[in-house]
Amino acid sequence: MSDCIFCKIVAGEIPSDRVGENEGAIAFRDINPEAPVHILVVPKLHSKNIIELSQNEESMSKVMELMREVTQRETNGHFKFLFNTGEEAGQTVFHSHGHILSQGAS
Ligand code: AMP
Ligand code: ZN
Repeated sequence: MSDCIFCKIVAGEIPSDRVGENEGAIAFRDINPEAPVHILVVPKLHSKNIIELSQNEESMSKVMELMREVTQRETNGHFKFLFNTGEEAGQTVFHSHGHILSQGAS
């Protein structure tokens, strides 16, 4: 999707503070953090929300794999992993992404 900000971040056309990557997903720090650790896990393949993402098992499992790796490194195992879905729930970027929210690693 040419006008999608997260597709541009995946492609490296817009810079991001990357903290992880695998074949199917990237993770980078949220530009407007709402917790000491606030990281977004984003599938490389465009899908508009978790409902669409979950219909692609390969893409979904890569997101979950990267979430597991990043939370082991960046949190103390206590975190939220949430997907805002739809405008009324606060979704503002319509390329699916999970928010990792944590107090940190210590
Ligand atoms: P949501 O409201 O669930 O759609 O989440 C979108 C998130 O993306 C927000 O927390 C924004 O702060 C974050 N965000 C938007 N643009 C960027 C960017 N260029 N780099 C990092 N995070 C971003
Ligand atoms: Zn996209």
